[in-house]
Amino acid sequence: MAPRRIENRTALKTSEAGQEPSQAADSVSLSRPRVSLGTSVLQSSNAAGLAAASSLLSGPIAAATAGPLRIILAGPPGGGKGTQSDFIQERWGAAHLSTGEMLREEVKNDTELGRQAKEYMDRGELVPDDIILKLVRSRIEKEESFILDGFPRSIPQAEGLDQMLTEMNKPLTSMIMLDVDDEVIVKRLLARGRADDTEDVIRNRLKVYHEQTEPAIAHYRRQGLVESVPAAGSIETTRDLVLDRIEKRLEGAAPTLETALSSSSLAAAPAVPGHSARAFLQEIDSLVEAGKTPYAPGWTEEQRSEVTEKTRSLIQEALVHAPEASVGQLARAAKLQADHTVEEVSASPRLVRLGVGSAVLGLSAAAVGLWQGAPAVAAVGATVAAAGLLTGALNWKGAERFTELAKALGGTRDLLEGWSVTLAQS
Ligand code: AMP
Repeated sequence: MAPRRIENRTALKTSEAGQEPSQAADSVSLSRPRVSLGTSVLQSSNAAGLAAASSLLSGPIAAATAGPLRIILAGPPGGGKGTQSDFIQERWGAAHLSTGEMLREEVKNDTELGRQAKEYMDRGELVPDDIILKLVRSRIEKEESFILDGFPRSIPQAEGLDQMLTEMNKPLTSMIMLDVDDEVIVKRLLARGRADDTEDVIRNRLKVYHEQTEPAIAHYRRQGLVESVPAAGSIETTRDLVLDRIEKRLEGAAPTLETALSSSSLAAAPAVPGHSARAFLQEIDSLVEAGKTPYAPGWTEEQRSEVTEKTRSLIQEALVHAPEASVGQLARAAKLQADHTVEEVSASPRLVRLGVGSAVLGLSAAAVGLWQGAPAVAAVGATVAAAGLLTGALNWKGAERFTELAKALGGTRDLLEGWSVTLAQS
């Protein structure tokens, strides 16, 4: 299957029913929810599932889906962009274009550009936009498929990129946003120990990320191109989520929102001032009454009604637990729940190993007990074995279920955040 191009980059807006989106009188853009509960080969996060999935991926499937894939990989420094790029590259064969790598190469070769860039890099600041844009243009020109890693990192870079991609007629597939909390990043980067990885520089890079790069992400969120992936868990868990989101984007699959927010996540999410969820619900109702539904390229009327209905029921349910919630708070609750879920996913394989390990020990003890004619030892051994097997089995299943949940929650968050970005602006 050749990847489907998403030609219309104003991905999702409310349009008059039956009208082309470009003719819509007033538009509300929101990010395209992309929740994958379908039939991906990458559904399970257990060891056997992963092994099967990777063998499938290196086989004929990868070749069959080759085609233009243009991804921006965004996320904080140390969020795992390089690692995840490799997986995407392996799967679809797109060129990996990392501005950080390109700059380090220039510094190493002691070029004029390298000398200019080095002082910014050493301080953890952004290298000036014109240098970066010049650097990437020549590379993007040569590639049909590419993964942009660490670029664009500011609004001028995003606008520069948009302009060159329009000129070259190379529309983006999506932006994958690897979502990791600052404290996790600091720990990870200190462990990595690169020359520009001292705690002060790391904190400065995070500050720069929040101040300059996040607005660029919001720029693409408004175009409906962003897929947030919770990335605090294991590399494999994140990989499954990333590949699955891209796969679904290429398929242009129907949006679904399969999950509700738990009341504990809602209670834990800090109240954020802003658009109230209740008022937002009323707005959705009045939009529907006026015959408008959310729009994304390739969506059928049915999918548009479905997404409206899912948004309504999600918010209605959340309001039962948190009557005063704002849209931003719901988005944060979805993020909290997603992070928690990812932690559980990464813990599960360990529990599987623990369970299987204790089952083996228990069975050995039971065998020894029986062999030596000591029924008490045999009984204890058998109990340990049964408990171990149960732990293993439960967590094996649990890992799969949690991965599904994490994907669904990522979609919930994209949906809510997309709406809130739009409404905050209007
Ligand atoms: P990275 O390896 O992506 O973390 O980049 C390392 C350093 O290179 C950053 O801290 C910046 O100083 C610089 N850099 C990389 N990409 C960009 C970019 N797109 N814009 C500005 N500076 C960049």
